[in-house]
Amino acid sequence: MEKYDVIIVGAGISGSVSAYILSKHMNVLVLEKKKLPRYKTCGGGITNKTLKFLRKIGIDIKNDLIENYIDRIRVKILGSEKVIEYNEPLGILTYRDVFDYYLLKKSNADILDETKVLDVNVSKDKICVKTSRGRFISDYLIGCDGATSVVKRKFFEVEKEMGVAAQLETNKMFNEIYIDFDIVKNGYAWIFPKRKGSTIGVGYIRGEEKEPIRSVLKKFLKNINVSYKEEDIKIHPLPYFIGRKNVVYKNVVCICGDAANLIDPLLGEGTFNAALSAYLASEAILKGNLGLYEKMYLDSIYKHMKRAYLISKIFYSKKEFSKYILMRTSFFEEFLKCICNEIECYSKGYFMNILKLIPLYVISKIYRFSK
Ligand SMILES: Cc1cc2nc3c(=O)[nH]c(=O)nc-3n(C[C@H](O)[C@H](O)[C@H](O)COP(=O)(O)OP(=O)(O)OC[C@H]3O[C@@H](n4cnc5c(N)ncnc54)[C@H](O)[C@@H]3O)c2cc1C
Repeated sequence: MEKYDVIIVGAGISGSVSAYILSKHMNVLVLEKKKLPRYKTCGGGITNKTLKFLRKIGIDIKNDLIENYIDRIRVKILGSEKVIEYNEPLGILTYRDVFDYYLLKKSNADILDETKVLDVNVSKDKICVKTSRGRFISDYLIGCDGATSVVKRKFFEVEKEMGVAAQLETNKMFNEIYIDFDIVKNGYAWIFPKRKGSTIGVGYIRGEEKEPIRSVLKKFLKNINVSYKEEDIKIHPLPYFIGRKNVVYKNVVCICGDAANLIDPLLGEGTFNAALSAYLASEAILKGNLGLYEKMYLDSIYKHMKRAYLISKIFYSKKEFSKYILMRTSFFEEFLKCICNEIECYSKGYFMNILKLIPLYVISKIYRFSK
């Protein structure tokens, strides 16, 4: 049985970042069930904070990975539309198969694709990983295996609450990013225009919707006049952060990214926390103390996601208020700029500023009612 210092399950963004950091100093194996580069059901929106973070750890993104820039967004809420424009883009649009594979190839790890992890056992601090291509042994194991993580199911409590998304790649061209908050109660539909087509999808990031996600997407496709083949619609879980202090490590095993339910519940952005959590877990392993990962996670991810969760609760359940913020103030534009650019994104100050807008909203409602 081949022995490694670290085995990483999954070659998405979190697996690739872990492999990149750890393989500089350790003997690392990445196991990926699909053939690489693999298609990932994802809008491919990568914010500046993620790009900045990747640059900080030594990874520059090449221009040919960029399909478009996030600089003009048409937003629809309660029947009203507004175009938000930025001089400096908030990020890029890409395709995750090429993006993740580019990151993965930066590492010196051994990579085995088309190798599915079937089971994991820990005995005397040694980990035995059973795969479709034999068994491997390691000192540490990182579960970067996404929404249906086998590592999570084996060692951690699985969250019952999970969102879901449906997506379609089309060759129909659009000239701006479009976000429709009306199509579902607790989420949104999107059009992300790329160089030779568009990625179109819908997700509910708080799982209380009645209508199946597939039929919501079909309704949206009809609204925007896009034809499709039924088999081209992909459905994927959205393991968003649900406000709880989830456990991310146990002894010599840890989970990162979607496996740890780290999708931002307001934006639906998962790539930033996937990269950041993978980096934190890898740093903790390099220091020989995986317990540090939990501590760093609480300081730099949990703290922000807790605020994102509260804001998402207000935003999606009080749509009249959200419409007021979006359509009648510049707060949303500034806020979006901050959460797409700043690594310390959901700061306490912004959270308090949202609460301060509530009395203004109430006054504006009373004023309009009295006219
Ligand atoms: C429809 C949709 C749209 C989205 N749009 C955006 C967006 O625009 N921007 C954004 O930031 N986020 C978006 N997200 C969220 C984002 O895609 C995820 O948060 C992100 O991919 C998480 O990265 P990850 O590395 O944790 O997991 P993944 O990217 O899911 O990678 C997990 C990998 O593990 C592999 N794997 C799974 N099980 C096994 C196994 N047993 N053995 C071996 N390998 C295994 C999988 O094949 C996969 O390659 C979207 C999600 C969905 C569903």
